[in-house]
Amino acid sequence: MSIIADCHLHTSFSGDSEVPMESMVERAISLGLKEITFTEHMDLDFIYEEGEPEGFFEVDTDAYMKKLMECREKYSDNIRINFGIELGMQTHINEKNLAYAKKYPFDFIIASSHLAEGMDPYLKNYWEGRSKADSWHAYFAYIYDVVSSYDDFDSYGHLDYVLRYGPGGKEGFIFDEYKEDIDRILKQLISMGKGIETNTSGYYYKMGGPHPCREILMRYKELGGEILTIGSDAHKPDNMAQYFNEAEELLKSCGFTRYCIFHNRKPEFVKF
Ligand SMILES: [Zn+2]
Ligand SMILES: [Zn+2]
Repeated sequence: MSIIADCHLHTSFSGDSEVPMESMVERAISLGLKEITFTEHMDLDFIYEEGEPEGFFEVDTDAYMKKLMECREKYSDNIRINFGIELGMQTHINEKNLAYAKKYPFDFIIASSHLAEGMDPYLKNYWEGRSKADSWHAYFAYIYDVVSSYDDFDSYGHLDYVLRYGPGGKEGFIFDEYKEDIDRILKQLISMGKGIETNTSGYYYKMGGPHPCREILMRYKELGGEILTIGSDAHKPDNMAQYFNEAEELLKSCGFTRYCIFHNRKPEFVKF
């Protein structure tokens, strides 16, 4: 594996992980990674399922930053630790997200769409009353609305997240039928100088590749996209840097020769 950093990681500061930050750092060191970027969940105004406490996906950022700075110091001889956030995008909270993004000295901000039009593709109601194709189109249309109205982020996370859920999963997805939706997102990102993420959890979720899929990654490259970030989205040590070899091969076959690690919100290019 030549990829030296995992740039999408969660710890117990995210509602859906119970792992102490130290355990993640130690795993990264044992894997030989040179850098890691923690990207805890900050999903303001999230729609919660019954039983999920309010604020479940809102990190206590002061506590998170304090812990990260301690770990940065403690492990400084062994690994570089970057301060990131996975910011949940919804157009009606752009102002709030903007204020939040400016408030902390982040190295890296991943923009993610876990919700579209106030609905969660993870839940049944997202898919009810319309075809699967319409549900997919709606998700990509929503991401386009986001990227045309908000710009304080670095890389768009798991761009085809919607394909993970819904009846039959990705079955029936034909890239060409969504090319227009995807193209306008990618063109907008490129014109803004923003990246996209290769999120290897797609392999873990049996998508047969990363999020987004090969066609979307290739299209980003074809359209002139250069800023590619890579992360496993691990919520526990075992999943860290998982499927990085597979992702590297796939990205090279799409024509990518390098990827980015963000420090102080600026991309540094690293060759495969
Ligand atoms: Zn996510
Ligand atoms: Zn994540």
